[in-house]
Amino acid sequence: MTTIAIIGAGLAGLTVAQGLRDRADVVVFDKSRGLGGRMATRRADPYAFDHGAQYLRARSAEFKAFLAPYIDQGIVRPWHARYVELDRDHLMSEERWDDADPRYVGVPAMNEPAKQLAGGLDVRLQELVTGITRWAGRWRLHGDDGSKLGEFDWVLSAIPAQQAAALLPASFSQIRTVREVRLAGCYALMLGFTEPLALDWHAARIHDADVSWIAVNSSKPGRDPTRFSLVAQSSNSWAEAHIDDDPASVQRHLLKEIGEITGQDPTGAEHCVLHRWRYANLDRRDGKLALLDPEKRLAACGDWCGEGRVEAAFTSARDILSALGPVM
Ligand SMILES: Cc1cc2nc3c(=O)[nH]c(=O)nc-3n(C[C@H](O)[C@H](O)[C@H](O)COP(=O)(O)OP(=O)(O)OC[C@H]3O[C@@H](n4cnc5c(N)ncnc54)[C@H](O)[C@@H]3O)c2cc1C
Repeated sequence: MTTIAIIGAGLAGLTVAQGLRDRADVVVFDKSRGLGGRMATRRADPYAFDHGAQYLRARSAEFKAFLAPYIDQGIVRPWHARYVELDRDHLMSEERWDDADPRYVGVPAMNEPAKQLAGGLDVRLQELVTGITRWAGRWRLHGDDGSKLGEFDWVLSAIPAQQAAALLPASFSQIRTVREVRLAGCYALMLGFTEPLALDWHAARIHDADVSWIAVNSSKPGRDPTRFSLVAQSSNSWAEAHIDDDPASVQRHLLKEIGEITGQDPTGAEHCVLHRWRYANLDRRDGKLALLDPEKRLAACGDWCGEGRVEAAFTSARDILSALGPVM
């Protein structure tokens, strides 16, 4: 049977792996301890934080069909948040998200759908792939301690573009396109409080500030509403300008911004942890890419092949599966 290595256990990598498992021996490698990539959840008892993707929307019939069983099982549920847009501390607009245009979240945490999707797959976590070399007509994957992770007929990358550009062989016919894509960074600050802050919204998009998003994570369905938790995210532009700053100074600045935006003092948080996403989001892209090299038996997919959202990660995986069909 054809052997395939998939690098990345985010939604894209796991979707491809599920689509190929009946046709090939598939192994998925991921450097992280958990599944789901940027659909991420950090637990810090008694709090939990979705510090990557905040919610997802489904526009295509195919993605709706993919989500349907998860919705039926309660693994994915709509978040009926009171959503506001702020111009710093000034209210611009407000709405209640409803089922007419659902914003879905994983339940009990954002990474739950990925956990379900990984069922029955050979997923090897905490395996950073550092190199891909040619060996006896196949691809050999190398780990970070010089170890060999195995030899495969095909290698499929499902990691952010800059990481894929650094890892994929220069002989990949699509490598120039991969090198052109840039995902921007983002800081996420996770705050857990013994006493809730007095906010009259659950999610806020903020303009004209270095913090561009604040969510009351504990207001999402299936979370413990008594464990008041906030996830605040920096704007991509601020993160890019401060990507190598001292984390303590980044944290101080984001806390100050949150205080000014909300009019509440966030410094009394019992839990306060910063996460840096080096490659977080993509500026809107028109069109989509299906990056396949049938001769070299290499391929790349991920959200950045589309518009940089959860649905785009899924769509890029399905596009690669269609393209692989005739050549595998
Ligand atoms: C802060 C933030 C907020 C977001 N908000 C939203 C939102 O509200 N709605 C929305 O739709 N989208 C949002 N997104 C985007 C969304 O999370 C992504 O579009 C989607 O999760 C990408 O899935 P993916 O499978 O393409 O990649 P990823 O989820 O990034 O998966 C890639 C995986 O590859 C692994 N990896 C990388 N390099 C290696 C290597 N060398 N070896 C082994 N493993 C490796 C990583 O550990 C990761 O698990 C947000 C992202 C961030 C960071």
